[in-house]
Formats: sequence, structure tokens, C-alpha cells
Amino acid sequence: LFAGPVDFVKGVVAMSGLPPADRVEVCFAGRSNVGKSSLINALTGRKTLARASNTPGRTQEINYFALGEQRYMVDLPGYGYAEAPLAVVEKWQALLRSYLQGRQTLRRAFVLVDMRHGVKAVDQEILSLLDKSAVTFQVVLTKADKVNAATREETIAQVQASLTKHPAAYPEIVVTSSEKGEGVETLRAIIATLV
Ligand code: GDP
Repeated sequence: LFAGPVDFVKGVVAMSGLPPADRVEVCFAGRSNVGKSSLINALTGRKTLARASNTPGRTQEINYFALGEQRYMVDLPGYGYAEAPLAVVEKWQALLRSYLQGRQTLRRAFVLVDMRHGVKAVDQEILSLLDKSAVTFQVVLTKADKVNAATREETIAQVQASLTKHPAAYPEIVVTSSEKGEGVETLRAIIATLV
């Protein structure tokens, strides 16, 4: 689906470190522990590409991966980690704001939300930032294997309701489980359509 290899390119800590904007890119955002590393690994078929870290919020870099030769996949640091020092949070927020507002080649942000929790206040913050930045975002529910059918429907309804407040929201939600592989192919196909 993505012609060419999938590889780590670089970790970026400042706008000046961004690779040249010569390919389209998609980014992944979500609370720490939402399952972002697991999903990126499942998407790329590489078990340890994104570090599935057990120390949430440790990595404060924007990590660039090449998805074949025509796309970048961008892993944004997990947010909402209560123990991160304020200075670190503020520096990260400034970088995130600059990145979202200034990256011409960014085609879509995938915002990961844990199927068990739904959209929380901390998620709303990033959704509002995406609205302000006019970056189309799509919610990806994670860990679908952890909930029963009733919770699944409830969370989908809650997320759909919360999306109506967000002008930058792409209406279709993607349900995934990295554990079971659910939704992974769908997400890959969505990324492949973005040019
Ligand atoms: P990150 O902090 O967002 O990168 O989250 P990780 O990918 O490191 O995942 C956090 C925890 O959730 C780990 O213990 C994973 O094994 C677990 N996890 C991630 N995705 C899934 C999933 O689809 N199903 C289940 N059952 N567990 C998952």
C-alpha cells in the first residue's frame, strides 16, 4: 500500500528541525497510554518502530517516520501526563501549536481516543487547537477489544456527539484494536487516499 520502506526518519524538538515539506503527512495524537505506539506499529507492520513505552509522556519529540517514499507519518508526544513538569508541557504546547498551524503538507490528524474512556477534557483541548489550526482531524478509537458491544456503541455515540462542536472534525470514526488487528487495514486505506 505504501510503496517503499517504512522507517524512522528523525525526532524533532523545534520547528527548525522539521524535515523539508516535500511529502504529504499525517499525524497521530492522543493521551499517554492511549495505544498510539501499538497502533503505529500495527499500521506499519513493524513491531518496535514506535516505542510502546511504559513511561507515559517521556518522549517529548515529534517523531517522523517515512511511510514509503511519498508520505510521512508523524507521531506526536502523548499528552495529559500529569507528572510532566509545567515548563516541559508549555514548551511542548508551543511546538505543537507551531507545527499544526505551520505545516502546509499536513493532511490529517488522527486523534486517538481510548474506547473505554471516550473524549475527555484533555482531548477537547487538542480538538479545539485543531479547529483553530484548520487541520482536519479524525478520531480513532483504540483498544476496542477491551470493551463489550454496549460500551462500544455508547462510546461511539458520545464521540459522535462531541464532534458536532468541532468544525475541523472529519465525521467518520475509525474503530481499532491493535491487539486484534481490527480497523488497521481501514486506517491504512484512509491514509493511502490522502495526497
Ligand atoms: P501509548 O503510550 O499511547 O504509545 O500507548 P501504548 O501503545 O504503549 O499502549 C499502552 C498500553 O495499552 C500497553 O500496555 C499496550 O499493550 C496496551 N494496548 C495498546 N493497544 C491495545 C489494544 O488494541 N488492545 C489492548 N487490549 N491493549 C492495548
